Amino acid sequence: MRDKIEIVQGDITKVTVDAIVNAANSSLLGGGGVDGAIHRAAGPELLAECRTLGGCPTGEAKITGGYRLPAQHVIHTVGPVWHGGGRGEAEQLRSCYRNCFRLAHENGLTSIAFPAISTGVYGYPKRPACRIALEEAKAALASCPELRKIIFTAFSAEDADIYRETMQEVVA
Ligand code: ADP
Repeated sequence: MRDKIEIVQGDITKVTVDAIVNAANSSLLGGGGVDGAIHRAAGPELLAECRTLGGCPTGEAKITGGYRLPAQHVIHTVGPVWHGGGRGEAEQLRSCYRNCFRLAHENGLTSIAFPAISTGVYGYPKRPACRIALEEAKAALASCPELRKIIFTAFSAEDADIYRETMQEVVA
């Protein structure tokens, strides 16, 4: 299982996989952070397709093409804004990962790369967010044998360390 999970430090827009995940906002019309980077790299065709989707509620996910990205698809998911942890944030974040894996499965995708959803502007604390990501990756690998590779892209060296440390605890 461990060999199917990779932690990569860097820019998710450069990763060649079947789908990269976008930490979008509920309008799906672009924003800052990783969302802005993905739209810049994919080109205006991505925004045009996103306009047809009618937004996306928190915890859910929608799939589009990848256009000028090396990735074939983008799975847009809307993470929760952190309000202190008492407003269902953990379940919503878990639901983001589950819905991304479900869409990957339904579309026959075998490799997927995630950013650290909600841990930027949305303020979700990094360690617990990382634990949820890895727990859901473990569950997805257990139930989807066709899933070949899950990449977690950490934007900083510090974030990559958090993933590695959490991996020791979560993934046998
Ligand atoms: P959110 O609104 O869900 O918090 P952000 O885009 O603000 O989304 O941040 C999510 C995470 O993505 C943060 O950990 C941030 O450091 C990271 N990030 C920002 N740009 C990139 C990128 N180009 N590639 C990978 N990760 C990125």
